[in-house]
Amino acid sequence: ETKEDVDKVSVERNSEEHIETECLNNVDHFIKNKLRVWCRVANGGEWDLGKLESVSGDAACVMLSSTEVVKVSMEEIFPANPNILDGVEDLIQITYLNEPSVLYNLRVRYSKDLIYSKAGPVLIAVNPFKNVQIYGNQILLAYQNKALDSPHVYTVADAAYDEMMREEKNQSIIISGESGAGKTETAKYAMQYLEALGGGSFGVENEILKTNCILEAFGNAKTSRNDNSSRFGKLMEIHFSAKGKICGAKLETFSFDQSRVVQLSSGERSYHIFYELCAGASPILKERLRLKVASEYKYLNQSNCLTIDRIDDAQKFHKLMEAFNIVQIPQEYQERAFALLAAVLWLGNVSFEVIDNENHVEVVADEAVTNVAMLMGCNSKDLMVVLSTCKLQAGRDCIAKRLTLRQATDMRDSLAKIIYASLFNWLVEQINTSLEVGRSRTGRSISILDIYGFESFKNNSFEQFCINYANERLQQHFNRHLFKLEQEEYEGDGIDWTKVEFKDNQECLNLIEKKPIGVVSLLDEESNFPKATDTTFANKLKQHLKSNSCFKGERGRGFRVSHYAGEVLYDTKGFLEKNRDPLHIDLIQFLSSCKCQLLNMFSTKMCHKSLKPATISDSMNQSVITKFKGQLFKLMSKLEDTTPHFIRCIKPNSKQLPGLYEENHVLQQLRCCGVLEIVRISRSGYPTRMTHQELALRYGFLLLDTEISQDPLSTSNAIMKQYNLPPEMYQVGYTKIYLRTGQIGVLEERRKYVM
Ligand code: ADP
Ligand code: MG
Repeated sequence: ETKEDVDKVSVERNSEEHIETECLNNVDHFIKNKLRVWCRVANGGEWDLGKLESVSGDAACVMLSSTEVVKVSMEEIFPANPNILDGVEDLIQITYLNEPSVLYNLRVRYSKDLIYSKAGPVLIAVNPFKNVQIYGNQILLAYQNKALDSPHVYTVADAAYDEMMREEKNQSIIISGESGAGKTETAKYAMQYLEALGGGSFGVENEILKTNCILEAFGNAKTSRNDNSSRFGKLMEIHFSAKGKICGAKLETFSFDQSRVVQLSSGERSYHIFYELCAGASPILKERLRLKVASEYKYLNQSNCLTIDRIDDAQKFHKLMEAFNIVQIPQEYQERAFALLAAVLWLGNVSFEVIDNENHVEVVADEAVTNVAMLMGCNSKDLMVVLSTCKLQAGRDCIAKRLTLRQATDMRDSLAKIIYASLFNWLVEQINTSLEVGRSRTGRSISILDIYGFESFKNNSFEQFCINYANERLQQHFNRHLFKLEQEEYEGDGIDWTKVEFKDNQECLNLIEKKPIGVVSLLDEESNFPKATDTTFANKLKQHLKSNSCFKGERGRGFRVSHYAGEVLYDTKGFLEKNRDPLHIDLIQFLSSCKCQLLNMFSTKMCHKSLKPATISDSMNQSVITKFKGQLFKLMSKLEDTTPHFIRCIKPNSKQLPGLYEENHVLQQLRCCGVLEIVRISRSGYPTRMTHQELALRYGFLLLDTEISQDPLSTSNAIMKQYNLPPEMYQVGYTKIYLRTGQIGVLEERRKYVM
């Protein structure tokens, strides 16, 4: 079974009439020829291969082995492909396109460590959860020289690069998938490839990969789904010179998860850097930061998880220091940053004592407080005041009001979150300064988007809502490109095109963002209403949105949304509070009074954002969800300006184990990203297209009986005739010629032959 054989079969298939290939139509044919079928005894079970023996009514007898015959409902039977097609590179080569066949094809490849496959224009990457020998310089070179062209993230990066150079158009590589599916790793391999391709001129290329090390230390954490889960989205925009050399890069991050700094679920960790610092700091540094082991800190020890299997935090810390130096963060600033990390850890140990029967508190003056004060460069007394009181304006006077235990704890946690989030943003700025060697004019950049995928947990809150909203937008972008644009182009150009159904998610986006009645608007409205509660918010949603087919109200505080990837039940608990995210003016002022340059900078930044009159309307008054929406729109309009390349990462099992392929888990993800639809469209469509002018320019000069005056359309027709392309292999539109997969190769061959 060589590759040629497979190609032959697929060519034969291509020249056949298009038949319905998803379900079993020709039962007699299958029984007579003893052809293989997929069947499963129980809905939701695993698929088995067998041979159809007989059918009566809705039930079929399938022989699984010489001794085992099972009775199955016809609905659970699908035609299987001849084994010559086992494990083809591109799913569009499959004859019988159905879920079990696609699952099987990916499984066959996965078992041979062929983790990449194509679904038409989309690359599918199945996470191996082990080192596979398909990366590194030699392989990279082979792809670069086109000696290798099997599906790979390298081929995607290569195509993006070529297209950018050829057409001077910005490109994007959009990587999606659920948590732990391999997005971040895939993004790194794409960067590695582009670095190799575009390296050598400006020196900045070595830095781009190193930035990942810093970002991961500060922005990744162990969660229940991924030991190295990114808790922020990122867009890395790499700029190239006219010669195709990397001349700069820009990093943008989205929706950083701050709550992890102060609150952890059992079995999860906070950001890696805390553990790395505790484990890897030199004795001198430890002394200076008054640092103890990780288990001493409440922010870290609350989840009973301090280490990650096979990960050496101390070693990671040394790698981080190297990266800091490469990205040229001055020693002095590195130490200040570490001091602030230690301050955050000690803040978590600050405790309160209730002093009256109204639950008002005082800060306990212990080691934690003195250490925080020392590390932040402030006075212990001032720190205690800011953590246990709030300033109220009473006429012309400002009076201090004591906080309750709950309020004081919130204040302390807010301070920790503000410091950490500011530190993260500051690092991103430092990285950008270091990467900004030169910006090319637009038209020569490749943006790599790694943003967390669709989430659906037992308990879904505001955070999941935001993530899923973003994914809904990305899905629309994807749909537009692969389905709508395709279809519209065919129809607009007057060629015959049988409509292919696809899931449009506009209804769900309307539910979320339609004004004035959508979840976002209603949330903002309720957030501005002092007496509103999570329950009144839930009721409001139910009252106004029940006509949208993607919405379902639930009893109490819950509501359901039918996302493209499945239904999610949200609990409105905390939505209003999280959306308001009040800026603690007291805390910001406090930061500005500290003797620490970094904290002063953070405070100035926040003041600019919140207090400058010019920005009051757009920044301070904006709710979290509205800011998020704004960011998302900016991202989308940036992406709209690029030629997209899509990579879908698949997580083969939920245990992060190699060699384990859980069919239903995979199937769920394939459905989420509409893989079958993509394949169906791609193979029934005409993926190659050229304008008549382009065609005439490239192939027209060989026409035997040319009349120079001929219009491009007639030239196209003449070329097709002379080159002898079978009529089912192309269509002629008003402006363009449309070719089926592989036909451009035929044309090229003949052109070469004649030349
Ligand atoms: P995501 O960003 O989608 O949440 P990651 O990229 O962090 O997922 O991948 C999770 C883990 O899976 C990685 O830490 C790594 O162990 C493994 N992994 C992912 N992609 C690969 C790959 N191409 N080769 C080997 N291991 C991988
Ligand atoms: Mg990630």
